[in-house]
Amino acid sequence: MKAISVFPGKPNSVHVADLPKPSVDQVPNGRGVLVKVLRVGVDGTDKEINAAEYGAAPPGYDFLVIGHVVATVRRPGKSIYDLIGTNDMTTDDTYYERGINLRHGYLTEYYVDDVEFIVKVPQGLKQVGVLLEPTTVVEKGIYQAYEIQRRLKVWKPRKAAVMGAGTIGLLATLVLRLRGLDVTTFARSTKPYLNANLIEELGARYISTKETSILDAAKQHGPFDLIFEGTGNSSVVFDSMQALGKNGVLVLSSVTGGDKMISIPADRINLEFVLGNKVMVGTVNANREYFELGVRDMAQAEAEYPGWLSKLLTDPVQGLENYPELFKKLTSPNGAIKVFCQVAEL
Ligand code: BGC
Repeated sequence: MKAISVFPGKPNSVHVADLPKPSVDQVPNGRGVLVKVLRVGVDGTDKEINAAEYGAAPPGYDFLVIGHVVATVRRPGKSIYDLIGTNDMTTDDTYYERGINLRHGYLTEYYVDDVEFIVKVPQGLKQVGVLLEPTTVVEKGIYQAYEIQRRLKVWKPRKAAVMGAGTIGLLATLVLRLRGLDVTTFARSTKPYLNANLIEELGARYISTKETSILDAAKQHGPFDLIFEGTGNSSVVFDSMQALGKNGVLVLSSVTGGDKMISIPADRINLEFVLGNKVMVGTVNANREYFELGVRDMAQAEAEYPGWLSKLLTDPVQGLENYPELFKKLTSPNGAIKVFCQVAEL
């Protein structure tokens, strides 16, 4: 069976590995499910794995099968958070993620997993199911923000900002619009820009940071009660801290494997955070609960903004054997939103 793999630590080492087809009895107690893979999306994390900045092979292998999809990504470790099904909150130093860290992924023809980690996507969402995993990352961040803000007793967020208009930024804009917030989404590109149109179709506002700085826009369209950061660029975090309103919550979701250094107005940022009772929270991964929430929101999105989700599926690549094209699309900035591999016909 074909499986698209990398040698972690070796840049641009994507290749096809040949693995035996998995069998259901690999999972004990009759809980195994054999899944035929139809579509797998690739994302910024795959880009970092490809650049050898992130990711690790499972024990006993020098390669890692990549790809993370509809089945949950992280597998339980040993911390108390893992024991209660919230693996996404693990405090273990070593975490196991299918397709990313120490466990093979899904960019293959078949996989087997425990029924506990498999999430049912309704037939009506079959075409857009490949967007569920990135949606769960957004769902977790936003859910956590609301949980945290229960500290305020009467928090009624009205205005939100989203940093970044890639897949995560677009999905964050969607989820915040479904919650009824006034949303301003920031990215670098100037209009005309497909992602800007998609944001405006949701009734949100698009701002190019080439034309208006985040801080100027915050004066005009803020104060922001909630900011979701998903640019993949760590320096945007510090602008976001300054754009956040009093009592606001800033959610950070960018996995930045590099080693960038910048200088920031530290006293001012700190002072405003303290005097404004602001919160900043990191979010990674998503447990089953957020996958189920993601399915519900995707269904609501289809009802409220019909056809919007499928417009994100800009760059299909046919067949696992075309992995060079898959990675070319992923790593060259050509306006793609979601690049995905059509592994088998739907
Ligand atoms: C995945 C998450 C994962 C994270 C860090 C992201 O691309 O969507 O499930 O936890 O990378 O490895």
